[in-house]
Amino acid sequence: MKIGLIAVDGHNYPNIPLMKISAWHKAHGDTVEWYERLFSGHMDRVYLSKVFSFTLDYPYYIDADQVIKGGSGYCIEVANGREVYHKERDTELPWEIEHCYPDYDLYPEFCRETAYGFLTRGCPRGCDFCHVAEKEGRCSVKVADLSEFWKGQKRIVLCDPNLLACREWKDLLQQLIDSKAIINFNQGVDARLMTEEKMEMLKRLKVNAIHFAWDRYEDKEIIVPRLKAFKEITGWGRDKLSVYVLINYDTTIEQDLERIYTLRDMGYNPYVMIYNKGATKGMDTVRCIQRWVNNRKIFNVAKRFEVYGCKINKT
Ligand code: SF4
Repeated sequence: MKIGLIAVDGHNYPNIPLMKISAWHKAHGDTVEWYERLFSGHMDRVYLSKVFSFTLDYPYYIDADQVIKGGSGYCIEVANGREVYHKERDTELPWEIEHCYPDYDLYPEFCRETAYGFLTRGCPRGCDFCHVAEKEGRCSVKVADLSEFWKGQKRIVLCDPNLLACREWKDLLQQLIDSKAIINFNQGVDARLMTEEKMEMLKRLKVNAIHFAWDRYEDKEIIVPRLKAFKEITGWGRDKLSVYVLINYDTTIEQDLERIYTLRDMGYNPYVMIYNKGATKGMDTVRCIQRWVNNRKIFNVAKRFEVYGCKINKT
């Protein structure tokens, strides 16, 4: 068969489902290529993968007997500022494709020495601003061993939504420690679930940096002591420790600034993420906070938001 692939949202990040689809077809003797509407000619089947709900769908005619669309971009919709999951539009990969070793040759620029994948799926949290629990289930479940997508590469990028919530977290962290590869948790680590035992294991991982998340202001009493303990146990410096801070969702500007100052005082780098699917009032202030905090040079010099020079807009 002649198989075409389209990464609808672009080629700036490896698309794991497409890499698995490619690997499976190649293993079955099919030819696989990126679909180019002007050059590919007629295909037996074309797969489209779309990651984001806010991007446009592929706008052109596809010359193929069969077209298969999949990805969060097709089954998640933003309505009234919330992400809504449409199960009927979701296309899960068949088991034998889901568990294929990915075809990293599709992305030579990203994957030469880096493996990408998931060890777990699902999350027990069910945060209102996130579709993971609805789409993947409200429980973090082990779905793979590391060997399923890693064969000795120097770096591993994990896309797991909440690995520490998985019952088999110890086995999975041990696999990552044993790999001796540099680990990047690209979705952030849930600080609320850290115990001393988990912190000791995380300390043994090779990481350039670790990212936690402090999304809900009211988690302050849980998150702050755990982040303090993590820093004490690992002895890691600010350069390795950052925390995503979600703003413009359900917090006030004062609460945002309090989280930012608290994290900085504890020796962490806050990194502001704007929730941009809801209200647009007060966005000037929100964007200004993001510019100030995420530019480390400026943030280190202008210690207070007032000093940075933006007025707080409370509307
Ligand atoms: S903890 Fe993270 S992955 Fe889990 S529901 Fe909340 S935002 Fe989503």
